[in-house]
Amino acid sequence: MLFDVIRHFLSLQRSQWFDKKKLSQIQAKKLASIISHAYNNVAFYRELYSSIGLNNSPRIEELPLITKEIIRAVPTEKLVSGGVITEEHQVSYTSGSSGMPLKIIKNDREAWYSDALRLRSLLAQGAKLTDKICTIRPVPIDKDFQIYRVTEKRRFYGFLKTSRVRPVPLSPDMRKHVELFKMWRPQVLSTFPSYLVRLIDFCRSSETHLTFRMIRTQGELLTEQTRKIIEEFFQTRVFDSFGAAEVGHIAWECPTRVGYHVNSEAVFMEVLRDGTPASPGEEGEIYVTTLYRYTMPFIRYNLGDIGVILNDECPCGRGLPLISRIYGRVVDIIVRRDGVPVFPLTVLYTLQEIEGLHRFRVIQRSDYVIEVYIKPRQGLEDAVATEVEKRCRLLFPNTPFIIKTTDQFQDDKIKFRPIVSYVKVS
Ligand SMILES: [Zn+2]
Repeated sequence: MLFDVIRHFLSLQRSQWFDKKKLSQIQAKKLASIISHAYNNVAFYRELYSSIGLNNSPRIEELPLITKEIIRAVPTEKLVSGGVITEEHQVSYTSGSSGMPLKIIKNDREAWYSDALRLRSLLAQGAKLTDKICTIRPVPIDKDFQIYRVTEKRRFYGFLKTSRVRPVPLSPDMRKHVELFKMWRPQVLSTFPSYLVRLIDFCRSSETHLTFRMIRTQGELLTEQTRKIIEEFFQTRVFDSFGAAEVGHIAWECPTRVGYHVNSEAVFMEVLRDGTPASPGEEGEIYVTTLYRYTMPFIRYNLGDIGVILNDECPCGRGLPLISRIYGRVVDIIVRRDGVPVFPLTVLYTLQEIEGLHRFRVIQRSDYVIEVYIKPRQGLEDAVATEVEKRCRLLFPNTPFIIKTTDQFQDDKIKFRPIVSYVKVS
């Protein structure tokens, strides 16, 4: 296992410096291979491609574009190679920020490759192999909230030395996180921009001083304004990264800050406008095709994000393609009255774990007032409302909010967006 990760890592370390031509050749081979695999082994793609008369070696441009809505309507078995999910597979879920979560299946070999990709980008951005890395993740947390040590034997660092990487659940209780940082002193913090904003708030109000050598963000839009606030407060550099549960690690910000390098050995990225390629420098929708995830391939899959392909050579010398900043499109950002953004994952994970809260929706009006619609389970109405109110106070300080109990939620489940904001973000 460790040998596989190291082997992949060494290969990736070399290939990032290949020129564009060589990288495209490698990519073309992998692309042909995954398309043929999907056609021959994955029921969904076989049926889809046969229905429009494609043979088993079509070119990528001929293939239909796939959306989250299309995928969600398909049973997982039809999306998985061979149609069978066994104990050998690893199961995870997308965050469900735009509706129902999607079940994602991969195998150990694919996870090792992901680890090698993650390692490459972390080292490029300035982390060291000996660094202690704290990862704050939006996972459901225990009611009592415990900072726990997770032994992830399948993860590279976890295997190398468990204490080097410590995933911690995202929680409104910043005090315990600060205690952990002070005690454990991680050099690298990997988390979401909104978490860092909240951590800064907490540190300011409690006059706490924390330092990290490097901060890496993911999962939410990192605005330049937020980056500046974080860098100034922690006196360190912040680098962003971009990925999705469906396809893994996709791109990472170059240390030169010119743009994000796409892991072209792992994903084929297209930026399209109305289905045709956007010109370099022009905004378009990001579509990805996985090149190593054979268990559950995603081919020409719309991530719901906007990006811009840059044709420039990167001053760092890497041949990996460059894209500019990535804009999340589907999700909205709640803005506190003092201008501080509260990002959707924070809201989702803070509210969705409330016991007895069957459904919720957060709508921010243009006058900043936040309306929180809740549907509690029968018999738990008062307890749920109290807990929602408590958490909203943490989420939206200095901002008025109203909690309303309702049965009426938008019926169109595909388009259902749990968080909507009408406040314009600059
Ligand atoms: Zn670069």
